[in-house]
Amino acid sequence: MPKKPSHSCSECGLLNCYRRDQHFPDFCLTEGADCEVVGKVTKIYRGKSQDAVIARAAAEVEGTYYGKLTRVEEIIAFAHRIGAQRLGIATCIGLIQETRIFVKILKAHGIPSYTVLCKVGSVDKTAIGIPEKLKVKPGSYEAICNPILQAKLLNRQKTDLNVIVGLCVGHDSLFIKYSDAPVTTLITKDRVLGHNPAAALYTSNFYYQRLLSPGQKL
Ligand code: SF4
Repeated sequence: MPKKPSHSCSECGLLNCYRRDQHFPDFCLTEGADCEVVGKVTKIYRGKSQDAVIARAAAEVEGTYYGKLTRVEEIIAFAHRIGAQRLGIATCIGLIQETRIFVKILKAHGIPSYTVLCKVGSVDKTAIGIPEKLKVKPGSYEAICNPILQAKLLNRQKTDLNVIVGLCVGHDSLFIKYSDAPVTTLITKDRVLGHNPAAALYTSNFYYQRLLSPGQKL
């Protein structure tokens, strides 16, 4: 069995792959990458395939508006560049107000959309084996988040680009897995940090030191 490498890009202090103004470390993934793979992947980004269109549209939005547009606006700019006629929105129930505002903004930019709420299907959590005690409100009817159904209903609508608004960790994984259209995220849910998960990392040197303590079983 090949030895598992102990270093990867997170241990690299040079990041030379970006501008080639340093040098590559011994364990570099760029240097170690099989040239054939690099070539094959680069080829995917050329030409007229959907992957190529997406790659170039994303780079164009980045290059044109770097540091100037909000993510809401970037999604609109990206949607225009990939020729998306209609957007799908997979929203969390807890962010339905934000979704309604996003829908209004899309409309103002001439982009129709179709929204599916996470609780669609209204299947009680116990129906999939989740014990009553793990409900947020035990003893009440509590629908599961249903990301596969969200994806299937958006697939049926043949949306061109699907946008995640605050789906839970894991539910987002299933939505992405089942979505026919490419997926991007407007809001990444963090119930504690006002949907800014990076705040835990920014404050981990003091307020959120617990994140770094070994043995905290989650
Ligand atoms: S690809 Fe190489 S240079 Fe780039 S971050 Fe990874 S290890 Fe560093």
